[in-house]
Amino acid sequence: MKELPPIYLKRIASQLNSEMPLYLEALSDYPSKGLHVNTMKASLTEVEEALGGISRFLDNGYITERSEEGGFRPSQHPYYAAGLYYIQEPSAMLPVMHLSGLTRDNPLILDMCAAPGGKTSQLACLTNGKGTIVANEIDRKRSEALRENIVRMGYPNVIVTNLSPKYFEEETKELFDVVLLDAPCSGEGMFRKEDAAIKGWSVSAVEACAARQREIIKSAEAALKQNGLLVYSTCTFSEEEDERNAEFIASFGFKPVLISDRIGKLKKAGDGLKSYPHIFGEGQYFCIFRKEGGAEGKLPRQKTSEKPSKDDISKINEIFNIEGREVLKNGDLFYIPSSSLTFPCTRLNGTLLGRKEGKVFVPAHQAFVSTLKLYRKSLDFPVDSKEVVAYLSGAEIDARNEKGWSAVTVNGHALGGVKCSGGIAKNHYPKGLRNESGRLF
Ligand code: SAM
Repeated sequence: MKELPPIYLKRIASQLNSEMPLYLEALSDYPSKGLHVNTMKASLTEVEEALGGISRFLDNGYITERSEEGGFRPSQHPYYAAGLYYIQEPSAMLPVMHLSGLTRDNPLILDMCAAPGGKTSQLACLTNGKGTIVANEIDRKRSEALRENIVRMGYPNVIVTNLSPKYFEEETKELFDVVLLDAPCSGEGMFRKEDAAIKGWSVSAVEACAARQREIIKSAEAALKQNGLLVYSTCTFSEEEDERNAEFIASFGFKPVLISDRIGKLKKAGDGLKSYPHIFGEGQYFCIFRKEGGAEGKLPRQKTSEKPSKDDISKINEIFNIEGREVLKNGDLFYIPSSSLTFPCTRLNGTLLGRKEGKVFVPAHQAFVSTLKLYRKSLDFPVDSKEVVAYLSGAEIDARNEKGWSAVTVNGHALGGVKCSGGIAKNHYPKGLRNESGRLF
């Protein structure tokens, strides 16, 4: 049984009443785990058959078998490395799942607190690569992890930024169709998973979180255009951070969007819905509001982009099929932009094709794993082949009769690139991603 602070127990009991024993019992169970399928890369059945042990609850969202650490590990499967799915706690998927059907075509979306990227990944699938998603993370290190995840998933329409919410309040006023604010919170929904969340909990921490959330809400409010949607979510249960902050959103004249519970057992909490560990997943609160009034803002001033030379284009074209796509140059880098939007501190704006080193074009990992499937050549291997294990560990593999740059694919899904010569494929899988244990799923 988890030892919880007495004041917390009193507070949560006042929300749950007769369900309190169910909540406490659920806290002794294994934490729930899940994943969502990257529908821009794979079909649901392909992932279901490859993994086993997963069951779908809504859309592309799955609950994975509960087991002790070291049991069922989807992160060790080559399809994980190929970006076919994103591991995400099931209740954390609910806010974006309830946004489905509410957005217009080609929306401009701001994910204000985006790292490590679970909800960004859902938004990219929801929009099917159309429109633009600005995935922002204030913490530099976490923004790097976010970038890595977006690259692995291969989404072509995500811009990763590392800015304070204040930037959007001041520089991109009334610009976005949707702002998702998955707020930093006191993490009461993390209690089953992390003892550190229990240790760090106090009433004053809850109050500090609620105040910080209100500051971020002000920025979100300013960044939304007329009729735009604000999705506000937390993984905590405190009313200060949930219901009271929903009231704070309403105080700007926003109107609540009636969300019908797609799970069928979530608890109504003011204008939002709440899940607890005895109901579904680890716990999540969310509400959706529409901005009334306001105006439509203007795009930030655009940088003039360089166009690559014909010679550069023909070098890129030998490796990647870029016909009909806009390719831009920034210093030594070539990329396909996600949109014409530019931001400072941009970690990623579109699909990086590669860089020029002297006169040579060196392709980027991202261009191989993008959902755009740009590569011209590939070496394909089955999931359980020694070549896939070798490639993911960073080792050379047999190049057959290939020459030059090629993708390495597992059942047609790209893992990265290799450069072939003399019968050997030199490994270009990024060093930080390698699995040197040689053990896979
Ligand atoms: N949406 C993410 C996902 O689905 O993977 C999870 C986001 S997490 C709940 C909240 C994020 O807010 C963290 O990455 C944290 O670094 C960031 N954060 C912390 N303080 C912040 C602040 N003052 N302003 C904006 N973001 C902040």
